[in-house]
Amino acid sequence: MIQVTVWNEFRHEKTNKTVQEVYPDGIHGQLAKFIGEEFTVKTATLDEEEHGLTEEVLAETDVLIWWGHMAHDEVQDEIVNRVHQRVLEGMGLIVLHSGHFSKIFKKLMGTSCDLKWREDGKNCRIWNVNPSHPIVEGVGECIELEQEEMYGEHFDIPAPDELVMVSWFPGGEVFRSGCTYRRGNGKVFYFQPGHETYPSYYNEQVQRVIKNGIRWCAPTENVYPSYGHAQPREEI
Ligand code: ZN
Repeated sequence: MIQVTVWNEFRHEKTNKTVQEVYPDGIHGQLAKFIGEEFTVKTATLDEEEHGLTEEVLAETDVLIWWGHMAHDEVQDEIVNRVHQRVLEGMGLIVLHSGHFSKIFKKLMGTSCDLKWREDGKNCRIWNVNPSHPIVEGVGECIELEQEEMYGEHFDIPAPDELVMVSWFPGGEVFRSGCTYRRGNGKVFYFQPGHETYPSYYNEQVQRVIKNGIRWCAPTENVYPSYGHAQPREEI
């Protein structure tokens, strides 16, 4: 059974009434609810000791989900380095929506990860541009969301290893909304929807993509390589 940890900064939900109404159990609560249908899941939040991401928790995590927005700077560098190391060792990481600006995503990408945005309550169409990819299995041609924040190009990320989805917005913008990367032994998946005041994590196709993403990101049986000084395999 794949073990998933859902990390949420859990700040909007404490102060914003609209967000409380959309996500009464927190964004992490809603994510954990549908993820728990198929995987073992626990949650962790910013205000917990070590942000809930202790060595023990990370050692038991196959795939970490990351949602953050207003408090990226409050995430301690020590914890970011710890997550980074686990990704290099093989832990999967799914970065959602405004997590594009998280310290961990920027560290893994090495670019600004900046983009255009507009919160206008308009719709969004997330096109499946890689139909044979396991992340979009069962999703169909596109996902229609009645409301989602506009995220537009240019998205300052390295060219994705695989581009899986591209989003269209009524303002004429497009956005690379489903991107995969490999870093060390780990797999990273960025997925755009999930603005805190819109109910995107109740959409079954969005849920499907996240669940498929968990399966894709989960570590393989491959052993993390050893580095450094090495004994010869032959007598020399
Ligand atoms: Zn947002």
